[in-house]
Amino acid sequence: MNDKLHPTTKAIRTQIDRTNEMEHSSPLFLTSSFMYNDVEMMRAAFADEIDVNIYSRFSNPNVQEFVDRVCALEGAEYGYATASGMSAIFASFMALLKSGDHFVCCSSVFGSTITIINKYLPNYGIEVTYVSATNLDEWEAAIKPNTKMIYLETPTNPGLDIIDLEFAGKLAKKHNLIFNVDNCFATPISQQPIKYGADLVVHSATKWMDGQGRVLGGVVVGKKELIEKIYLFCRSTGPSLSPFNAWVLSKSLETLDVRMERHSNNAFTIAKKLEGHPKIERVVYPFLESHPAYAIAKKQMKNGGALVSFHLKGGLESGKKFLDALQLLTLTANLGDSRSIASHPASTTHVKLTDAERLATGITPGLIRISVGLEYVDDIINDILQALEKS
Ligand SMILES: *Cc1c(COP(=O)(O)O)cnc(C)c1O
Repeated sequence: MNDKLHPTTKAIRTQIDRTNEMEHSSPLFLTSSFMYNDVEMMRAAFADEIDVNIYSRFSNPNVQEFVDRVCALEGAEYGYATASGMSAIFASFMALLKSGDHFVCCSSVFGSTITIINKYLPNYGIEVTYVSATNLDEWEAAIKPNTKMIYLETPTNPGLDIIDLEFAGKLAKKHNLIFNVDNCFATPISQQPIKYGADLVVHSATKWMDGQGRVLGGVVVGKKELIEKIYLFCRSTGPSLSPFNAWVLSKSLETLDVRMERHSNNAFTIAKKLEGHPKIERVVYPFLESHPAYAIAKKQMKNGGALVSFHLKGGLESGKKFLDALQLLTLTANLGDSRSIASHPASTTHVKLTDAERLATGITPGLIRISVGLEYVDDIINDILQALEKS
């Protein structure tokens, strides 16, 4: 494809070759395996001499179309899609780290990622040092002779801290480390970590890539030599993306750019509207000038994303009352949907942690996170305002 095309155009136009039916929209290949004309063709397939599909755990046309589209959006060489975001993240660790290795990880990463790192990686002799999202001086100090990878998310969850990708990319290069970024929250529409030296970019496609709360999926893209190792790990261990989910996700990518524009315009409008509200201590949104890393957000992101956080002055009780008073916004364990979702981590998702543990990950008792949807922005604002009255 013409290299001068915009990534969004490339993603929309990247497609499975037409079948004899000359269909315009890609068909769904619900097949576990693929056939050969004769023994010679089958031999060549297994000898990797011809580029054909063998078995859908290894590859499938719908899965490949989805991967190729994500590669176009991220500006990546190569990719592999998995059944969920977590399997993409897990595979990126297991395929590239081994016993005796160490990696540096930002302390505010997705909850299940923390579980993998703290509970399972030590069983394989892989150790971690957590570093602060806001104090970058800690990062270089955490690097040891056996450090192999830097792993981070930006914006972080749920505090929406912004980490300077250029800084992390240069640090990784200086110490010859694999730079691995979970780019789920920004999406490739807003930010492309590969431009800043990322070797790998992982995604939960369950979130904005699907964007309608229907299917689970994950994907990892980046340098060919690293993706090949991840592919071989996945091909044998089996966290493959189903062709049906890939077909749904691939179609969704055609509208990712327009959806993210509406999501982030809504989110910015809401963030500005809530700033200075008497019940709110602080509103956090990367594109608000009051955000401590506003300049970095503006440097590396095209839009501020779809998440808005705020800290209620009334703390825990206020947060519970706010959630219960909502009429339009949904209480659900997801984000990145066309429908706006509210969460109050201290009373729900992070209820098992102590106050101190919650504070360490930036969760105050009154923290509310809104995953702003595609509804008309005034309707979202009105629901938030009436719930604030009752909080
Ligand atoms: C949801 C999420 C994940 C996990 O993805 P699943 O598809 O649920 O497995 C990983 N990272 C981030 C930032 C997420 O929001």
